[in-house]
Amino acid sequence: MCFGVRDAIALALEHADAGPVTVLGDLVHNPTVLSALEAKGIAAAQDVAHVTTPTLMVTAHGTSERTLARTRALGLAVVEATCPLVRVAHRAVAALARDGYHVVIVGQRDHVEVRGLTGDLDRFDVILEDNDVLALEEHPRFGVAAQTTQPLERVRRVVDSIRRRFPRSDVRFMDTVCKPTKDRQSAAVEMARQADVVIVVGGRSSNNTRELVKTCARYCARVHHVETDKDVRPQWFDGADVVGLTAGTSTPDDIIDCVEARLRADASTFPNASADEPVEADARR
Ligand code: SF4
Repeated sequence: MCFGVRDAIALALEHADAGPVTVLGDLVHNPTVLSALEAKGIAAAQDVAHVTTPTLMVTAHGTSERTLARTRALGLAVVEATCPLVRVAHRAVAALARDGYHVVIVGQRDHVEVRGLTGDLDRFDVILEDNDVLALEEHPRFGVAAQTTQPLERVRRVVDSIRRRFPRSDVRFMDTVCKPTKDRQSAAVEMARQADVVIVVGGRSSNNTRELVKTCARYCARVHHVETDKDVRPQWFDGADVVGLTAGTSTPDDIIDCVEARLRADASTFPNASADEPVEADARR
């Protein structure tokens, strides 16, 4: 679990001890952690209008100044658990807009972090793939930043596509992909290259987990996304010598440990597995 998510959970628990608190959106995109927070009495709401506690907490994904102002205008106390690396992305976007660039975010349009990054802008575009560049209108200056959990490789491809499509435009790229995401992605590539089967642990709605699955799938033909050890199927390992294990930034260690324990327990049933070290690489950071 990255430090941004870990700190946000710790802050929520600290405030829950002091009084009722509602988290705006999902504190983490992991159902197991969300259930544990709910059990501690921490409420969740998808819209400020639905908050019934005196205190609202903004998640590690951050939010816009406009949303913060709206929240305070409703009389709610705000606790911000915004990750410092998301704040870096906010500052980058604000600087691009201030310097007269048309802001383009490489990321998922409906993701809470992207909504926060664009929430104070009047004009912007959000694109995810090279093909989306075709839909952009020409601007003399493009300022490109990324959702912090996007694979840097893809973001650079999109930036190159913008430069090719608009050769007369000034295209400025601010690399806002966070370091934990970069470290995890590169470790996952290294691991997937060596593995016959890769298991990626994380919530189905976790963007960085899904991106890890896609990255691993480019280097290994047999990649499986699981939320818990209960999702693991023994038949996935038929003929496998090496099984790789990695996890998204919002996956708690105990869930990963359970999956690892399950793989090690099942290792004796892998027809070709080494009895000593069935799990070859672990990309956790
Ligand atoms: S994934 Fe990166 S930006 Fe997001 S909370 Fe973790 S460290 Fe911060």
